[in-house]
Amino acid sequence: MRLLIMGAPGAGKGTQAKLITEKYNIPHISSGDIFRQEIKDNTKDGQLANKYIIKGQLVPDELTISVISKRLQKEDCNHGFLLDGFPRTIKQAHALDQLLAKLDLKLDLVINLNVSKDLIIKRLSGRRVCLKCGATYNLNTNPPKKEGICDRCGDTIILRDDDKEETVKMRLDVYENQTKPLIKYYSDQKILVHVDGNLNFRDTFKEVVKFIGDLDGKH
Ligand code: AMP
Repeated sequence: MRLLIMGAPGAGKGTQAKLITEKYNIPHISSGDIFRQEIKDNTKDGQLANKYIIKGQLVPDELTISVISKRLQKEDCNHGFLLDGFPRTIKQAHALDQLLAKLDLKLDLVINLNVSKDLIIKRLSGRRVCLKCGATYNLNTNPPKKEGICDRCGDTIILRDDDKEETVKMRLDVYENQTKPLIKYYSDQKILVHVDGNLNFRDTFKEVVKFIGDLDGKH
Protein backbone atom coordinates (compact mmCIF):
# COMPACT_ATOMS: atom_id res chain seq x y z
CA MET A 1 0.00 0.00 0.00
CA ARG A 2 1.12 3.51 -0.77
CA LEU A 3 0.17 6.00 1.89
CA LEU A 4 0.70 9.65 2.66
CA ILE A 5 0.22 11.32 6.04
CA MET A 6 -0.40 15.07 6.16
CA GLY A 7 -1.06 17.68 8.81
CA ALA A 8 0.32 20.87 10.33
CA PRO A 9 3.68 20.79 12.12
CA GLY A 10 3.03 19.18 15.50
CA ALA A 11 -0.09 17.34 14.33
CA GLY A 12 1.57 14.07 15.30
CA LYS A 13 2.54 12.86 11.82
CA GLY A 14 5.84 11.38 12.95
CA THR A 15 4.28 9.42 15.82
CA GLN A 16 1.49 8.01 13.66
CA ALA A 17 3.94 7.30 10.85
CA LYS A 18 6.10 5.17 13.14
CA LEU A 19 3.06 3.18 14.34
CA ILE A 20 1.74 2.69 10.79
CA THR A 21 5.06 1.59 9.30
CA GLU A 22 5.67 -0.89 12.13
CA LYS A 23 2.19 -2.40 11.86
CA TYR A 24 2.16 -2.66 8.07
CA ASN A 25 5.87 -3.25 7.59
CA ILE A 26 6.46 -0.55 4.99
CA PRO A 27 9.28 2.01 4.86
CA HIS A 28 8.75 5.40 6.51
CA ILE A 29 9.82 8.11 4.07
CA SER A 30 10.11 11.36 6.02
CA SER A 31 11.51 14.31 4.09
CA GLY A 32 12.35 16.04 7.39
CA ASP A 33 14.33 13.00 8.62
CA ILE A 34 16.15 12.73 5.29
CA PHE A 35 17.17 16.40 5.49
CA ARG A 36 18.24 16.05 9.14
CA GLN A 37 20.43 13.09 8.19
CA GLU A 38 21.99 15.05 5.30
CA ILE A 39 22.69 17.93 7.71
CA LYS A 40 24.28 15.56 10.21
CA ASP A 41 26.44 14.09 7.42
CA ASN A 42 27.31 17.64 6.36
CA THR A 43 26.56 16.96 2.69
CA LYS A 44 26.05 19.71 0.12
CA ASP A 45 22.30 19.04 0.04
CA GLY A 46 22.24 19.13 3.84
CA GLN A 47 24.03 22.47 3.99
CA LEU A 48 21.62 24.01 1.49
CA ALA A 49 18.52 22.55 3.19
CA ASN A 50 19.65 23.75 6.60
CA LYS A 51 19.62 27.40 5.48
CA TYR A 52 15.85 27.14 5.04
CA ILE A 53 15.07 24.74 7.86
CA ILE A 54 16.56 26.91 10.59
CA LYS A 55 14.37 29.80 9.42
CA GLY A 56 11.22 27.66 9.40
CA GLN A 57 10.96 27.98 5.62
CA LEU A 58 10.44 25.25 3.07
CA VAL A 59 13.47 23.79 1.34
CA PRO A 60 13.21 24.63 -2.40
CA ASP A 61 10.96 22.27 -4.38
CA GLU A 62 13.70 21.22 -6.79
CA LEU A 63 16.01 19.86 -4.08
CA THR A 64 13.15 18.30 -2.11
CA ILE A 65 11.69 16.57 -5.15
CA SER A 66 15.07 15.22 -6.20
CA VAL A 67 15.85 13.81 -2.74
CA ILE A 68 12.46 12.12 -2.43
CA SER A 69 12.43 10.78 -6.00
CA LYS A 70 15.72 9.01 -5.36
CA ARG A 71 14.43 7.55 -2.12
CA LEU A 72 11.15 6.29 -3.62
CA GLN A 73 13.01 4.43 -6.34
CA LYS A 74 14.96 2.31 -3.86
CA GLU A 75 14.03 -1.33 -3.78
CA ASP A 76 12.47 -1.32 -0.31
CA CYS A 77 9.66 0.89 -1.68
CA ASN A 78 8.59 -1.71 -4.26
CA HIS A 79 5.84 -3.07 -2.05
CA GLY A 80 4.62 0.18 -0.62
CA PHE A 81 5.65 3.08 1.59
CA LEU A 82 4.38 5.81 3.84
CA LEU A 83 5.26 9.37 2.91
CA ASP A 84 5.47 11.82 5.82
CA GLY A 85 6.10 15.52 5.25
CA PHE A 86 6.21 15.26 1.47
CA PRO A 87 4.59 16.74 -0.59
CA ARG A 88 4.23 20.10 1.10
CA THR A 89 3.45 22.22 -1.98
CA ILE A 90 1.20 21.77 -5.01
CA LYS A 91 4.32 21.67 -7.19
CA GLN A 92 5.70 18.77 -5.15
CA ALA A 93 2.34 16.98 -5.38
CA HIS A 94 2.40 17.28 -9.18
CA ALA A 95 5.97 15.97 -9.23
CA LEU A 96 4.95 13.02 -7.06
CA ASP A 97 2.00 12.21 -9.32
CA GLN A 98 4.30 12.29 -12.33
CA LEU A 99 6.90 10.08 -10.71
CA LEU A 100 4.32 7.53 -9.58
CA ALA A 101 2.67 7.52 -13.02
CA LYS A 102 6.07 6.83 -14.57
CA LEU A 103 6.49 3.85 -12.23
CA ASP A 104 2.89 2.80 -12.97
CA LEU A 105 1.86 3.37 -9.35
CA LYS A 106 -0.72 5.44 -7.45
CA LEU A 107 -1.24 6.68 -3.91
CA ASP A 108 -3.93 4.60 -2.19
CA LEU A 109 -4.74 6.86 0.73
CA VAL A 110 -3.93 10.30 2.12
CA ILE A 111 -4.49 10.65 5.85
CA ASN A 112 -5.00 14.22 7.02
CA LEU A 113 -4.48 14.75 10.75
CA ASN A 114 -6.61 17.63 12.07
CA VAL A 115 -5.35 19.32 15.23
CA SER A 116 -6.28 22.65 16.90
CA LYS A 117 -3.71 25.44 16.79
CA ASP A 118 -3.46 25.69 20.60
CA LEU A 119 -2.60 22.03 20.90
CA ILE A 120 -0.01 22.31 18.12
CA ILE A 121 1.85 25.07 19.94
CA LYS A 122 1.71 23.14 23.23
CA ARG A 123 2.98 19.97 21.57
CA LEU A 124 5.83 21.59 19.69
CA SER A 125 7.16 23.57 22.65
CA GLY A 126 7.18 20.36 24.72
CA ARG A 127 8.72 18.20 22.01
CA ARG A 128 12.25 16.91 22.56
CA VAL A 129 14.20 14.75 20.16
CA CYS A 130 17.26 12.59 20.33
CA LEU A 131 19.49 13.47 17.41
CA LYS A 132 21.43 10.25 17.81
CA CYS A 133 18.67 7.63 17.50
CA GLY A 134 15.67 9.71 16.37
CA ALA A 135 13.46 8.96 19.39
CA THR A 136 10.93 11.68 20.18
CA TYR A 137 9.48 12.68 23.54
CA ASN A 138 7.02 15.20 24.89
CA LEU A 139 7.65 16.80 28.25
CA ASN A 140 3.88 17.04 28.87
CA THR A 141 2.63 13.69 27.64
CA ASN A 142 5.57 11.36 27.11
CA PRO A 143 8.63 12.49 29.11
CA PRO A 144 11.85 10.45 29.23
CA LYS A 145 12.43 8.44 32.42
CA LYS A 146 15.47 10.53 33.31
CA GLU A 147 15.26 14.26 32.66
CA GLY A 148 17.07 15.32 29.49
CA ILE A 149 18.28 11.80 28.62
CA CYS A 150 17.06 9.51 25.84
CA ASP A 151 15.54 6.26 27.24
CA ARG A 152 16.60 4.34 24.17
CA CYS A 153 20.25 5.30 23.66
CA GLY A 154 21.26 7.47 26.64
CA ASP A 155 22.17 10.54 24.55
CA THR A 156 20.99 14.05 25.43
CA ILE A 157 17.56 15.03 24.11
CA ILE A 158 17.07 18.53 22.77
CA LEU A 159 14.51 21.06 21.56
CA ARG A 160 14.88 21.21 17.79
CA ASP A 161 16.02 24.66 16.64
CA ASP A 162 12.99 24.82 14.38
CA ASP A 163 10.64 24.04 17.31
CA LYS A 164 11.54 27.37 18.96
CA GLU A 165 8.56 29.71 19.26
CA GLU A 166 9.34 32.22 16.48
CA THR A 167 10.22 29.49 14.02
CA VAL A 168 7.08 27.55 14.90
CA LYS A 169 4.95 30.60 14.04
CA MET A 170 6.69 30.82 10.67
CA ARG A 171 6.21 27.08 10.02
CA LEU A 172 2.50 27.37 10.80
CA ASP A 173 2.16 30.28 8.33
CA VAL A 174 4.01 28.27 5.70
CA TYR A 175 1.67 25.35 6.35
CA GLU A 176 -1.46 27.55 5.97
CA ASN A 177 -0.27 29.15 2.74
CA GLN A 178 1.59 26.39 0.95
CA THR A 179 0.61 22.99 2.32
CA LYS A 180 -3.08 23.33 3.24
CA PRO A 181 -4.13 23.62 -0.43
CA LEU A 182 -3.09 19.95 -0.76
CA ILE A 183 -6.18 18.98 1.24
CA LYS A 184 -8.36 20.06 -1.68
CA TYR A 185 -5.92 18.58 -4.18
CA TYR A 186 -6.20 15.08 -2.68
CA SER A 187 -9.85 15.46 -1.78
CA ASP A 188 -10.53 16.10 -5.50
CA GLN A 189 -8.66 12.86 -6.23
CA LYS A 190 -11.03 11.15 -3.75
CA ILE A 191 -8.25 9.53 -1.75
CA LEU A 192 -8.24 11.87 1.29
CA VAL A 193 -9.56 10.96 4.73
CA HIS A 194 -9.66 13.17 7.85
CA VAL A 195 -8.55 11.85 11.22
CA ASP A 196 -8.90 13.65 14.56
CA GLY A 197 -5.36 14.27 15.79
CA ASN A 198 -6.51 16.03 18.98
CA LEU A 199 -7.00 12.66 20.66
CA ASN A 200 -4.21 10.81 22.43
CA PHE A 201 -1.94 9.05 19.96
CA ARG A 202 -3.38 5.57 20.60
CA ASP A 203 -6.96 6.64 19.85
CA THR A 204 -5.83 8.55 16.78
CA PHE A 205 -4.01 5.42 15.61
CA LYS A 206 -7.19 3.34 16.00
CA GLU A 207 -8.94 5.75 13.60
CA VAL A 208 -6.04 5.56 11.17
CA VAL A 209 -6.06 1.76 11.21
CA LYS A 210 -9.79 1.71 10.40
CA PHE A 211 -9.20 3.71 7.23
CA ILE A 212 -6.20 1.62 6.19
CA GLY A 213 -8.23 -1.53 6.91
CA ASP A 214 -10.88 -0.28 4.47
CA LEU A 215 -8.25 -0.47 1.72
CA ASP A 216 -8.13 -4.26 2.05
CA GLY A 217 -9.95 -5.80 -0.82
CA LYS A 218 -9.06 -2.87 -3.03
CA HIS A 219 -5.65 -4.53 -3.53
P1 AMP B 1 9.55 18.08 9.44
O1 AMP B 1 10.38 17.25 10.32
O2 AMP B 1 8.71 17.27 8.48
O3 AMP B 1 8.70 19.10 10.19
O4 AMP B 1 10.54 18.93 8.51
C1 AMP B 1 11.46 19.83 9.07
C2 AMP B 1 11.80 20.92 8.05
O5 AMP B 1 12.38 20.34 6.87
C3 AMP B 1 10.60 21.73 7.55
O6 AMP B 1 10.25 22.79 8.43
C4 AMP B 1 11.13 22.23 6.22
O7 AMP B 1 12.03 23.32 6.40
C5 AMP B 1 11.95 21.04 5.71
N1 AMP B 1 11.11 20.14 4.89
C6 AMP B 1 10.67 18.89 5.22
N2 AMP B 1 9.91 18.37 4.24
C7 AMP B 1 9.84 19.33 3.28
C8 AMP B 1 9.18 19.41 2.02
N3 AMP B 1 8.41 18.41 1.55
N4 AMP B 1 9.36 20.54 1.28
C9 AMP B 1 10.13 21.55 1.73
N5 AMP B 1 10.76 21.54 2.91
C10 AMP B 1 10.62 20.45 3.68
